[in-house]
Amino acid sequence: MWTRKRSVSISPRRFEIHLALLGAQNQTGRTFHFDQVGQKPYTKPEPIILESHPQVATTKPRASAIIRLSSFTVYCQVIDYVPHFQLRDYQQDAVAATLAHFRKSNESAVIVLPTGAGKSLVIAELARLARRKILVLTHVKELVEQNHQKYESYGLTAGIFSAGLKQKVTHHQVTFASIQSVARNLDQFQHEYSLIIIDECHRVNLEINQNTQTTAGKANPTTPTTNQYQQVIAQLTHTNPNIKLLGLTATPYRLGLGWIYRRHYRGFVRSEQPRPFEHCIYELPLRYLIKRGYLTEPKLVDATVLQYDFSSLNANVNGEYSPSELNALLNKHHRVTKGIVEQVLTLSEDRQGVMIFAATVEHAKEIYSYLPEDRSALIIGATDSQERDQRIQDFKDRKIKYLVNVSVLTTGFDAPHVDMIAILRPTQSVSLYQQIIGRGLRLSPNKHDCLVMDYTGNEFDLYQPEVGEKKPNSQSKPVQVICPACQFPNVFWGITDDDGDLIEHYGRRCQGLVDHDNGERTQCDYRFVFKECPHCNSENDIAARSCTTCHKVLVDPDDMLKKALQLRDSKVIRCSGVSLNTVTPDPRSGNDPESIKPCKLKITYHDEDGAELNETFDFSKPNQVHTFNQLFAKRISRNILNKLNEVSTPNHTYTVDTLEQALKLHLIFPKPDFVIAKKDKYYWKIKNRIFDYEGSYRKAEQL
Ligand SMILES: [Zn+2]
Ligand SMILES: [Zn+2]
Repeated sequence: MWTRKRSVSISPRRFEIHLALLGAQNQTGRTFHFDQVGQKPYTKPEPIILESHPQVATTKPRASAIIRLSSFTVYCQVIDYVPHFQLRDYQQDAVAATLAHFRKSNESAVIVLPTGAGKSLVIAELARLARRKILVLTHVKELVEQNHQKYESYGLTAGIFSAGLKQKVTHHQVTFASIQSVARNLDQFQHEYSLIIIDECHRVNLEINQNTQTTAGKANPTTPTTNQYQQVIAQLTHTNPNIKLLGLTATPYRLGLGWIYRRHYRGFVRSEQPRPFEHCIYELPLRYLIKRGYLTEPKLVDATVLQYDFSSLNANVNGEYSPSELNALLNKHHRVTKGIVEQVLTLSEDRQGVMIFAATVEHAKEIYSYLPEDRSALIIGATDSQERDQRIQDFKDRKIKYLVNVSVLTTGFDAPHVDMIAILRPTQSVSLYQQIIGRGLRLSPNKHDCLVMDYTGNEFDLYQPEVGEKKPNSQSKPVQVICPACQFPNVFWGITDDDGDLIEHYGRRCQGLVDHDNGERTQCDYRFVFKECPHCNSENDIAARSCTTCHKVLVDPDDMLKKALQLRDSKVIRCSGVSLNTVTPDPRSGNDPESIKPCKLKITYHDEDGAELNETFDFSKPNQVHTFNQLFAKRISRNILNKLNEVSTPNHTYTVDTLEQALKLHLIFPKPDFVIAKKDKYYWKIKNRIFDYEGSYRKAEQL
């Protein structure tokens, strides 16, 4: 009579056990069988969830259970074991957001969860809910293995496809795979997959070909590509045109590329350019997880006795430094390294596990030489994999306390007891910095916080809002800039004074999304700086090469300046100020002196050395008023909005009709960065006014 529907081995994990009650035994030992007393076994409507199963004596393993309740022992028939994992509220939210998104769209999506938030549970739940096949891709075999292990620890079964792990199994519903192995064996991926999940998806560089697709999910399978992720996505899209693409990451940006997605679900735009992913559909800040006790609090103390000064080095586009330059610098500072290691030893006396991140292999070896040999280990790229696994195991088993490495243990390394991190390597990559610190934030018994010592002056703030762009200069910090058109609170790099008031910011366009009556959402078209198209007057990004409205070529201001500086009949003013005056007509022209009224506006552009250029606009002539407004009205409107902090529709432009109106604008009159004039017989005629300049020439008041 004992049956079982599904073969699942019981391991001391959480299971949902669906039971049919067969009988009960009271405290006196008398047993009732429901079928004996004429009752049918009935299925408990709510499955019983067992944390582990010490109170369940499995008389017939996998098929029956006896549960001792307070006064009864209940005999049960096990109908089914369902692996049970309790999702945290935010994991549930992330899953719900994914389902909601893919129900209405096939566009690619990203979920942003801090390291340690339990991405594997989100993957497991999505896999459980999916009917069809799922492929989980990662870039390193350690992560493939770790994700797979986590997944199977919930009592589920999945396949691994990774040459490095010597397994090529694709017949399970879920396959954990390394991207390299899949790309090399595309012929083995002819099945219809419904979902591709990319873990650590900030590493995806899709080298988007703008002519053939806009997002990763829509790759054209016939386009030859060199990128492995693109190849795999193209192949699977070919088999199933409706396949969904989901990325998971803790750090949704890449140095050099910026944000990896375009639109955020909270209503703003991260990028106007194509990105590997289209939408961010869920995001949780690190602070939330720490506050709720899901992660350990990092204790960033500014108590370093010594620091390296890496400021003389130049990082590459990925924020990394050349090892030879690093070694050259570090070789001059052996005493600093020794002093730092001594401080690490002192501060770590009461700590359980210490990870030290070195800048180069040579540096790592030096650090290791100052550490107690019997309690330390070194892992570098060249460490033999067996040896490496052994050292990691010894560290996890706490046989050793100090683990020195050079960027090999940033992803896929999981030793929850780590409660101190010493950073001795420089980086400009926020995501790398966050990953390093992420190694110390997991929960572990008797761990109260994680001490983070940064000896490099990296100066990242773990809790600061992300700007996602490269920091333009050292004084910049994230600032909030409210859009005057839609009131969206943008976060840009900017400079503030000592009181915290904004002096300037480097934002170009408002990132808010604006809802339209037809249900569409588009990016707010308010631009803080812009390059005006001379052909159709529409506003373009200052770096645009062609007009987004009329598609005509926009002249590069640097080319314009270069040419003007070479010509003898041209004059260039590096404008440091503008003054507005009136011109009164010459009384000798025969007019009645009494009736002479000024009607012309004279604009003078001054450079730093006193040189100037002028132009006049006759406000009694409608065509000149029109030209004036074409040149300045948009920028005047922008300045008025900024000054008044007023909200207006982005397309509303303040126009100037009279000379009196124009004169009142002297405080907010837009100042160009350069003015170019050409000699016209006897005077200089202004040809171009370059606003919002960002190029290689020095602007006025710039060093
Ligand atoms: Zn806006
Ligand atoms: Zn145009």
